[in-house]
Amino acid sequence: MMQKQPKTIDATIILVISGCLSLSILPFVVLRFISGELDVAILNTVAVSITASIFVFVYTTHRTQAARWLLSILSMVVMLITVAIKGPEQVVWVYPSLTTIFFLLPAHMAAIISTAFLSALLLILSPSADFFFLLKVGISAGATLLFCYAFSTKMRGQQHYLELLAITDPLTRVGNRRALEEQLLGTVSRLNRYRDQSASLIMLDVDHFKQVNDQLGHACGDKVLMEFAELVQLRIRDSDALFRFGGEEFVVLLENTDAKEALLVAETLRNSVLEHHWLAFDSRITVSAGVAQYINGETMEEWLGRADDAMYEAKTRGRNACIAAH
Ligand code: GH3
Ligand code: MG
Ligand code: MG
Repeated sequence: MMQKQPKTIDATIILVISGCLSLSILPFVVLRFISGELDVAILNTVAVSITASIFVFVYTTHRTQAARWLLSILSMVVMLITVAIKGPEQVVWVYPSLTTIFFLLPAHMAAIISTAFLSALLLILSPSADFFFLLKVGISAGATLLFCYAFSTKMRGQQHYLELLAITDPLTRVGNRRALEEQLLGTVSRLNRYRDQSASLIMLDVDHFKQVNDQLGHACGDKVLMEFAELVQLRIRDSDALFRFGGEEFVVLLENTDAKEALLVAETLRNSVLEHHWLAFDSRITVSAGVAQYINGETMEEWLGRADDAMYEAKTRGRNACIAAH
């Protein structure tokens, strides 16, 4: 069964575009039938049917990938056929079509498709239009295309930057709790689907960190946390991911790793922290770690909870220790 996804801004944009297209083409279907222009009337009927179907599909499933491509190709093809049948006056519709596909597709893809579309349009127009008209259409549509490309690239770049900002811890530059939860949701659903796979968590908590702050001040404490994150990141494998869970607590997610292997990684981390000479702190720092391998069926919160409980057990056993969850 097809799974319904949460409604995104993408889905809303496609709903608006497909809805507006259906409603704006619909009056022309009626007008063309009344005026006896059967070819354009049928073309418009097909366009309304497809755009209305896209609207219903996206409204019910919130899936947008296929819909974006279908809408982009449809708007280009319908435009070209309309110009071929009705002549150069239909060229006014080229501009909204060009703009629309930059909302639907990545900037590079939209630029390639719209350039091909513009070339085809000029070819279709060339027998029926004079040179200066073709030049005007070419330059004005080309300028629209360039503007849309620049705007789309800038907008998507900023969107990517903001998305990254929302999941990055500003102090240590590792993933924040939101990033961890997004990643864990994906891992949990994958592990429940492929039950032979494994993954483990290491919950790390710096021991007596309050004393570091008390001795050196909050600013130096911050530097120690940055150095701590760098140190851990250097020691884990490329397939492992480090997140700041909050305060002086960090989580390492180890894909395809059972508790035994994760405990070895945790021990390596504990030793590295113990032996490290801190730039910002002239004394030893230790860390306590709790390790938990995912158990099928448990929620993300339960998995994190078991790693947390194991970490607290390491604390009660005197700190500077790694404990595996039961
Ligand atoms: P324990 O061994 O039991 O974990 O002791 P602890 O002192 O590390 O634990 P506690 O929870 O009592 O204190 C954590 C401290 O971490 C208190 C808080 O001020 C400090 N802390 C949390 N976030 C930051 C931060 O972003 N920067 C700095 N400098 N300190 C922080
Ligand atoms: Mg703590
Ligand atoms: Mg602590």
